[in-house]
Amino acid sequence: MDTLIIGFGIAGVSIAHQLRRNNIPFHVIDSPENSSSLIAGGVMNPTVLKHYTMAWEGKKFSDYAIQFYKEISNIIQYNVFENFKINRIFHSLGEHNEWIVAADKNTLDFFLNKDIHLNPLREINTPYGYGSLKNVGRLDFKNIINKYKLLFGTNYRREVFKYSKLQFIKEGIKYKNDLYKRIIFCEGYGMKENPFFNYLPLIGNKGEMLIIKAPNLSQNIIWKGRFFIVPLGQSRFWIGATFDDSDKTTNISPTAKNDLLLELEEKLNIPFEIECHDVQIRPTVIDQRPLLGLHPELKNLYIFNGLGARGSLMAPHLSKFLYDYIFLNKALSTSIDIRRFTLEKKEI
Ligand SMILES: Cc1cc2nc3c(=O)[nH]c(=O)nc-3n(C[C@H](O)[C@H](O)[C@H](O)COP(=O)(O)OP(=O)(O)OC[C@H]3O[C@@H](n4cnc5c(N)ncnc54)[C@H](O)[C@@H]3O)c2cc1C
Repeated sequence: MDTLIIGFGIAGVSIAHQLRRNNIPFHVIDSPENSSSLIAGGVMNPTVLKHYTMAWEGKKFSDYAIQFYKEISNIIQYNVFENFKINRIFHSLGEHNEWIVAADKNTLDFFLNKDIHLNPLREINTPYGYGSLKNVGRLDFKNIINKYKLLFGTNYRREVFKYSKLQFIKEGIKYKNDLYKRIIFCEGYGMKENPFFNYLPLIGNKGEMLIIKAPNLSQNIIWKGRFFIVPLGQSRFWIGATFDDSDKTTNISPTAKNDLLLELEEKLNIPFEIECHDVQIRPTVIDQRPLLGLHPELKNLYIFNGLGARGSLMAPHLSKFLYDYIFLNKALSTSIDIRRFTLEKKEI
């Protein structure tokens, strides 16, 4: 076998797709219990609404991602990316001006509609009005992962990968009964347990979310106040998510739940029921850039990590960079290559 992929969140899916479209045989080992992708809201928004700026490489990543998700949707015969308007609820009148100025800026104008909406709405409280984002949408993380892996048959194995069982031999790397040329680790925050790569400064940021049922709320729009309200179909909505970089446990917390509920009580004028409260750790990096590349000493171990809070936007194009690096010898940009950190920089 050529390649072994460890982890099948959006990083694993994306690199698997690059291998598949280039006819490179691979196995996947994944234990989805700690998947950040599986609880993510799927919002793909290349702007930073807090500062009215573009996210890093936002337009380029967004263009690539939309085509990529179309290609996967055709293969799995299921549409995994849907265009949605995102309505940004203003917190003050002062924001109107910031919005109008931002909507005139080059590139941001592709995503921000200039108009300020002040008409009161029945279901949602928007006392200072709202502005609309266009050319944005939602990735259905659950279905892209769960439907894509079905194509691999027994080449997808649901199990925990044991680092101690790896054998480095002359012919390649042996894991249990299989021999591989290389391993690509796509473990999200699970990388903290990886003895080969845990020298890298993955910080992690805990995120908690709710799923609610609200039959009277429209399914056509994503709302963004302090948190996102994302339609999931069948009267269900994803609410989130909180950010906490001090607690790295995956225990759900009453404080985070209260925070999310406070926002819902403030914004929604309609009844809702909570269906689920969940938590995972986002794979965030000290310098807020992804972690891609080759282990400095073990020449057949690669990593694809550090997608932070924007996996849906960044994973597709980054997977192309990693593919080109591994198979076509194209250099990675220094801002994403793990060579910007040395093995000694272990402590954070
Ligand atoms: C609450 C929350 C909301 C979010 N909302 C959004 C959003 O709306 N939009 C967006 O773009 N991003 C969002 N994110 C961020 C997004 O989830 C991440 O950027 C992205 O999913 C990271 O993908 P990944 O594949 O690197 O890691 P993961 O999705 O965590 O996948 C890693 C996989 O590897 C497995 N694994 C790890 N170690 C091993 C091992 N030893 N053996 C076997 N398997 C292993 C894990 O269990 C998991 O299945 C959110 C995150 C959280 C926590």
